[in-house]
Amino acid sequence: MGENDRLRDYRGKRDFGRTREPQGSAETSGAQPRFVVQIHDARTLHFDFRLQVDDVLKSWSVPKGPSDDPQDKRLAMPTEDHPLEYEDFEGVIPRGEYGGGTVIVWDIGTYEPLSHDRKGRPVDFGESIERGHATFRLSGSKLHGEYALTRFRDGLDGEREAWLLVKAGKGGAHGHGTPDPYRARSVRTGRTLGQVAADGDEG
Ligand code: MN
Repeated sequence: MGENDRLRDYRGKRDFGRTREPQGSAETSGAQPRFVVQIHDARTLHFDFRLQVDDVLKSWSVPKGPSDDPQDKRLAMPTEDHPLEYEDFEGVIPRGEYGGGTVIVWDIGTYEPLSHDRKGRPVDFGESIERGHATFRLSGSKLHGEYALTRFRDGLDGEREAWLLVKAGKGGAHGHGTPDPYRARSVRTGRTLGQVAADGDEG
C-alpha cells in the first residue's frame, strides 16, 4: 500500500484549511525508525503513542499513557495511521475540528524492532503489528527500554479493536511512572498543555 492510501483515513477526517496538522508528504529515511508520544487534551485527555512503520506512524490512543512499571497494562486503542511529520506537531487543533484540543510532544526518539516468531527468529515489524503482537526497545528522552503492544480484542464482533501497551521486564518501576499530564512538559519546547493552549498558534 502506498503512503497516499495509508493516509486516506487521516486526511479524510481533517480540514487542512482549518487545522495546522501536517497533510503528510515526508519520505521515509533509512535511519532507525522513530517514535513519538503526544499528550492530547481533546474531548477526553489521552496520550497518543506512535511508531514509525515504513512511511507512516502507526498510532494508538492510550488513555492513561505509557508506564515504566511492568505491572501496569495500559489500554491502547488503535487510531488511523499518521504522517511522519506528525512527530513535530504541537499546538492547538481548532474546536469543532477532528481531535479539537491542545497537543504537546511529550517524548520522542527512536526504537529498535524486537519482534520475533515462536522460534525466536526476527520477523518483519510491520507484519508483527498486523498479527497483533510487537515488541520493541525505545530510546527516547523519557521512555527507555523494552515494551510490547499486544492486541487482545480484534474488533470483528462490533466492539472496538483494543490493545495493551506494557513495559517488559521484571520487578517494579525504575522511574516515576506516568506524570500528571497537565504538569508534564513538552520535550520539544518545555511547555505544558496550558502554556501551549495560551500561546495558540504562535508556538
Ligand atoms: Mn489524539
